[in-house]
Amino acid sequence: MLLLVITISLYFHKFSQAETLKIGAIFDTDDPIKERAFHHAIHQIEPIHGRTIEGLVKNVPPNDPFEAMLAACHLIESGAVAILGPTTHENAHMVQTVCDNKDIPLLDVRSVAHPQNSINFYPLQQILTQIYIKLLEAWNFENFVILYENDDSLIRLAELLKFYGNGHRMVVRQLDKYQNGNYRPTLKEVWRSGATHFVLDCSTDILEEVLHQAQQVGLVTNKQFYIITNLDFHTLDLTSFQYSETNITGMRFIDPDSDEIQNLGLTLYRNDFTNTEFGFIEAWKVNLEMALIIDAVTMFGEVLNRLPKDFAIPSIDCASDKAWTYGTTLTNLVKSVKYPGYTGLIQFDNFGLRSAFGLEIIELKEGGIIKIGNWNYSDGLNINRVYPPDPPPLVEGSLVNRTFIVITCLTEPYGMRRDSEVPLYGNERYEGFGIDLIAELSKKLGFNYTFIIREDKKNGEFDESSGEWTGMIGDVISGKADLAITDLTITSERESAVDFSTTFMSLGISILYQKPKKALPSFFSFADPFSLTVWKLLAAAFFGASIALFILGRISPSEWQNPYPCVEDEFLVNQLSLRNCVWFMVGSLMQQGSEIAPIAFSTRMVAGMWWFFTLIMVSSYTANLAAFLTTESPDLPFKDVFELVQVAEKKGIKFGAKINGSTEKFFLDSKHVDEYQQIYKYMKNHEDEVMVNDNKDGVHKAEHEDYAFFMETTSIEYETQRRCGLTSVGHSLDEKGYGIAMRKNSSYRMALSTAILKLQEEGVLAKLKRKWWEEQRGGGLCPQGEKSTEGTPLNLKNVEGVFCVTIIGTVLSCVLVFVEMAVHTFKKSLRVKKPFKVLLMDEMRFYFRTSAMLKPVTAPKPEPYGFITS
Ligand code: GLU
Repeated sequence: MLLLVITISLYFHKFSQAETLKIGAIFDTDDPIKERAFHHAIHQIEPIHGRTIEGLVKNVPPNDPFEAMLAACHLIESGAVAILGPTTHENAHMVQTVCDNKDIPLLDVRSVAHPQNSINFYPLQQILTQIYIKLLEAWNFENFVILYENDDSLIRLAELLKFYGNGHRMVVRQLDKYQNGNYRPTLKEVWRSGATHFVLDCSTDILEEVLHQAQQVGLVTNKQFYIITNLDFHTLDLTSFQYSETNITGMRFIDPDSDEIQNLGLTLYRNDFTNTEFGFIEAWKVNLEMALIIDAVTMFGEVLNRLPKDFAIPSIDCASDKAWTYGTTLTNLVKSVKYPGYTGLIQFDNFGLRSAFGLEIIELKEGGIIKIGNWNYSDGLNINRVYPPDPPPLVEGSLVNRTFIVITCLTEPYGMRRDSEVPLYGNERYEGFGIDLIAELSKKLGFNYTFIIREDKKNGEFDESSGEWTGMIGDVISGKADLAITDLTITSERESAVDFSTTFMSLGISILYQKPKKALPSFFSFADPFSLTVWKLLAAAFFGASIALFILGRISPSEWQNPYPCVEDEFLVNQLSLRNCVWFMVGSLMQQGSEIAPIAFSTRMVAGMWWFFTLIMVSSYTANLAAFLTTESPDLPFKDVFELVQVAEKKGIKFGAKINGSTEKFFLDSKHVDEYQQIYKYMKNHEDEVMVNDNKDGVHKAEHEDYAFFMETTSIEYETQRRCGLTSVGHSLDEKGYGIAMRKNSSYRMALSTAILKLQEEGVLAKLKRKWWEEQRGGGLCPQGEKSTEGTPLNLKNVEGVFCVTIIGTVLSCVLVFVEMAVHTFKKSLRVKKPFKVLLMDEMRFYFRTSAMLKPVTAPKPEPYGFITS
């Protein structure tokens, strides 16, 4: 009974097996969509002679031939009539060996240079190479660079290398030399070589990144031409490149605009609809491999129909040496029929290779990917550039969506490398005033930009010997860059070769030199508060006032006093002898006083004026002395450029400037100023010793040697904010500005200039200047705006008022003394009844005849102040 049950169940098992045809697939890349494509294809196959089709899938690790062999054996032992092969090289090779052994058809969708026993659905590489060559010819690629990913790419491109091997200048460069995902070293090298035409061969996985990095190094501009060999190029997100005006040409088998691909996209990505709503978008994701998987499996299903109805399903043990009877027949059948698939009409030539096919030639334009022609086996290449309507023309000078290559030098603080712990890429690598300014302009005008660096820091000069411009100006003229920004001074010579935007910063030339050291106080430093003239005038005033007091004292009758008022004496005495007058003046000047006190109006007035004078002078002296004592007296060997020229040789001071910069040019061109010519001659004769390649070197020299560096005031300001031992000496020798350079007659000059003016008006430029000069990278370290610490002696100008007042006061006293004397004599003439005139003459005669300070009483007796005695 048991035996009967087992026999019946075995029969049913065998029968049910007979009802299903199995097609196996081995996947070795982690892509669920490929598996989905496989199952989709299986479902497309109608039952064959009443047998339904089943798909068996095995996933194996990439390049693991042992696992691949086990998977193949498992599928064959499970009765698979064909196997869709894996894609990694070693797995594919192993599966092919197993399938060859068991005579099971292998459906291969890989790109292989020389397909052998498998049924390879991938378009024949040799024919693809023919298409590249046709494109190279059509696009006039005479000198070009092949950028390839790995050895597989080289094998693929072997025919191309052979074809162009002689007679053409072709450079071959591997993209990722160090296998670290950084393609920039190669791309930069290529950029430096000035190459503009490229054949780019790499896998879809890295293609987008390669283009991004190429854009970062300035290889995606309107000057470059690319032919991209990857047939899935159109499936990438290319929006970042479509406005670059770069000529990028590719090829594709899949037309995402066709209804069938759109439906296929919807089917394959049906579970991903959360992200997108439209099948149209999914269609762009359908790549060649997916389409080939579906084509291979559905075509094989079609061919299975052609086998006899009762063909035996393979029942093979992998370890045995048995093979399937129908394997070779099926392989030959597939290779002999034509089948319309997603990748066009599938047909194989006499060698079993897919050499007859057609594909579309595509180009990346502003509107995205467009078809510009096609290639087919019989007609060859047919370019028919019918572009969709161009996007609305750009407004004249509009910069929206343009991409500029901006060249700059790493000159502080205009452009500097950004410090970062993580690797930075593209424009992120740089910072500084110039970098921020371009970012602000790009925000305003809507352009994109890529920074490139001029490592030798040459701003640019006209080289008479070669007749060409060097440095960044040369780069702009040659088209290597569209814009140049750094401390690039606008000069008439440069302006004749390139266009400049309006000035974004004003400056002049000045001298960077070490701050003066404190000088030792001099022996007579107490005299410093007054200039020599003031001291001389002070001495003159002193003697003048003493003499004035003496004369007035003699003339003034009130100054003649009876030494013993209670006794009627014969003589009157006068205290204001010359000696006493001088002593009185000294006492007042020294703020000490004296016993002498003038009595008359006039003498008191003179004394008062002198006190006033000494009060002001002594206060001024004290105040200025305090300033002198608290300040350092700087020991600067020169105060400006003219003094520098005079003292340089004597004091051993060297001076120089940045070589080939606008500062050197200034001295060369200043033919009308002898000193400037002398400076230029000296700099030329001592070029090796005093001229520097970079501002940094000049600043270092100024800091550590006795060296005066001619530098632009903006840069001096930057340095003196950070190096407190340096200062700017003298005034600016000229006035000029920095601008952004661009090629002559650039249509965008106006737009850039207007935007710069706007940034100026909005205060953005001032903010950027503050940021990079005073705040970032050690700015604000040294106090700025310090006036010279040297005290200045008071000169005549400072004290002339007080001298005047004193002189006027003294003159008035002289007038007053005569009035006093006249009144006194008049009263006496009334008293003694003598004529006024006679008495006056007597008095006068007495004063001038003798210098005695005793006056006989017979002489007219003075009246005390306040009342007149009769
Ligand atoms: N700004 C100068 C130039 O554009 C460089 C510095 C200098 O010469 O002082 O050449």
